[in-house]
Amino acid sequence: MKTDIEIAQEASLKPIHEIAGSLGLSEEDWEPYGHTKAKLSDKLLSKLHHHKDGKIILVTSINPTPAGEGKSTVTVGLGQAMNKIGKKTVIALREPSLGPVMGIKGGAAGGGYSQVLPMEDINLHFTGDLHAITTANNALAALIDNHIQQGNALHIDPRRIVWKRVMDMNDRALRQVVVGLGGPKRGVPREDGFNITVASEIMAILCLANDLQDLKEKIARIVIGYTYDETPITVKDLEAEGALTVLLKDAIKPNLVQTIENTPAIIHGGPFANIAHGCNSIMATKTAAKLGDYVITEAGFGADLGAEKFLNIKSRAGNFKPDAVVIVATVRALKMHGGVSKGDLTNENVAALAEGMENLAKHIETIETFGLPFVVAINKFPTDTPSETAYIEKWCESRHIDVALTDVWAKGGEGGINLAEKVVEKASAGNQSFKHLYELDDSLETKIRKIAQTVYGAKDISLTNQAKQQIAFYETQGWGNLPVCMAKTQYSLSDDPKMVGRPQDFIISIRELRPSIGAGFIVVLTGDVMTMPGLPKKPAALNMDVKENGKIVGLF
Ligand code: ADP
Repeated sequence: MKTDIEIAQEASLKPIHEIAGSLGLSEEDWEPYGHTKAKLSDKLLSKLHHHKDGKIILVTSINPTPAGEGKSTVTVGLGQAMNKIGKKTVIALREPSLGPVMGIKGGAAGGGYSQVLPMEDINLHFTGDLHAITTANNALAALIDNHIQQGNALHIDPRRIVWKRVMDMNDRALRQVVVGLGGPKRGVPREDGFNITVASEIMAILCLANDLQDLKEKIARIVIGYTYDETPITVKDLEAEGALTVLLKDAIKPNLVQTIENTPAIIHGGPFANIAHGCNSIMATKTAAKLGDYVITEAGFGADLGAEKFLNIKSRAGNFKPDAVVIVATVRALKMHGGVSKGDLTNENVAALAEGMENLAKHIETIETFGLPFVVAINKFPTDTPSETAYIEKWCESRHIDVALTDVWAKGGEGGINLAEKVVEKASAGNQSFKHLYELDDSLETKIRKIAQTVYGAKDISLTNQAKQQIAFYETQGWGNLPVCMAKTQYSLSDDPKMVGRPQDFIISIRELRPSIGAGFIVVLTGDVMTMPGLPKKPAALNMDVKENGKIVGLF
């Protein structure tokens, strides 16, 4: 069987001007980044404002296994299939982070015959957006430390700085560091730490901004820490919003590429869904909706994380709602939810699959709570047996749930035609019943509880003293009416990654809150989720190499 990278390297790509041309774009609307990538103008969206909006299809999934369940693969495959059935469709995806690429996952640009290309570029440095975000984040950190060094006119309490440095890598050694050591000429010592870039507030802001000016206004509102008497200090107080926006002037422009079947794809922004809001940029989704009759977009991890945040955070910030949802499930993940260990996944086990269906059932209930029409997509793996896939189909049919067995990994768009037809039908039914899960004027605690009970199925939440104090303090600051961005393990509906399936009677422990006032939400850390991941025992990086002829191997 060929690997993703071998399939990608055999594909024949069209020059990017042909892809831009197929979308009706003129030269002023985009600039080339090499032969097969382009940046779309940040003015394009306002230029297209009179265009009708295409329908938005959100792809989500059950709780994944460590390897990922093929949500990006199905998103890309569905986009290709939609074009095959004559529907003008644009895909909108997130940019991969180098952390998981080097860590457990390898490539993150789809898989098999449903990939976005050039996969090596997209998975590595792409058009430099993540580097720009890292630099803007760290420029702010440097400006904060310099401000303190130069006399600290704003009276910033070095013990109360909440702004962390970032790096786009899994590097657990940097979670907690001390900076400014070495005497008066080398700064004021203080405790600091690193997050991964995709958890940074700058990434969230880039993804939630509607244009360059909005980006600058949101950056100005970032709270970096507090004074000695606990007054919040913002980027505006430091007069740094102009410089940070300058550093992001190209990163704000969405990236245009194509799939293996030359379907246009806009890839822009990449917050993680377990520790950040998990969705590509509003500018990418809206531009794709203006350029296509349909946009297929993805929210990270399961419906308990990415989709919840798409529907409560992104759709509010962008003022849109999806027309239909696709819930991706795989036989192997459902078997794991039914108790099968990773090493036994290739053996047929319908009994375990039947147990594991509870996990899918919970995510279906969640999408129903939001009032959205949906289709279940079974992402077929070569190891699935006919009895296993038939079991899922019958389970869905007996509950009058639309289901489509998709084989887009092996067959590209052709393998997703059944799914595409069902999605078109669902999206034409309308999304009038859509409702957010909570009101913005609910208290922070009520919002957290509603998510925990309705989306995760928890009995209740428990708050540490620190979390209680933070909630009280944030409400006095007028931040109580912001949405909440839950940070939780992706592997379980609960905050314990080992509790697979559909755990019952569990409590979600709320450890700590962090203000992301620029992005416009409050981050809520549950269990022991980390905002800087570590590498596994055998990092995916160790399989990678570049040959004498420049060919990359082992990138999945
Ligand atoms: P996710 O978006 O859920 O993280 P991806 O789409 O990135 O998952 O896929 C993760 C990995 O699984 C990729 O390497 C991809 O090639 C592989 N994969 C996805 N779907 C299939 C499938 N149906 N059969 C075999 N491998 C698959």
